[in-house]
Amino acid sequence: MIQMKEKTQSQAMPHLDELYKEIILEHYRKPHGREPLDKVDYHAEGMNPLCGDEVRLGLQLKNNKIDKVHIEGHGCSISVASGSILAEMLKGKTIEEAKEISKHLKDLMHDKSSDLKIDIGDLEALEGVKKFPVRIKCALLPWTTFEEALVGHEHVEIS
Ligand SMILES: [Zn+2]
Repeated sequence: MIQMKEKTQSQAMPHLDELYKEIILEHYRKPHGREPLDKVDYHAEGMNPLCGDEVRLGLQLKNNKIDKVHIEGHGCSISVASGSILAEMLKGKTIEEAKEISKHLKDLMHDKSSDLKIDIGDLEALEGVKKFPVRIKCALLPWTTFEEALVGHEHVEIS
């Protein structure tokens, strides 16, 4: 158990550019989306066994928009920061817009060009992760969990 913890921590922060690192650490220290929901319209739990990351995600909708995002989990700084960025970005978006943002991130990670007309905010910081292929899964875990929640899958394991 202790060994696993040490391993996770030593892998916690690859050599990202300083600016990206700051943004990710800021989200890791003070993650968004911790407030509980009044009602849960979609939810799912996601796991990334490779790194030991776990997220639990819930969405609350109002007038066809994502009114609140609840996300909590534990794992490396990148998975936690990515979940926090997700919570921040998806709030107030329609499901369609949210799906577009998620697709945009996946395209970024896989070096596909992608055009999005929504301000991507701190999502940009996650792009730095793509230099570390093993960490891409950490960054995408919350987003994959989000997509699976929409289609009714409650347990997601990415490998
Ligand atoms: Zn991770």
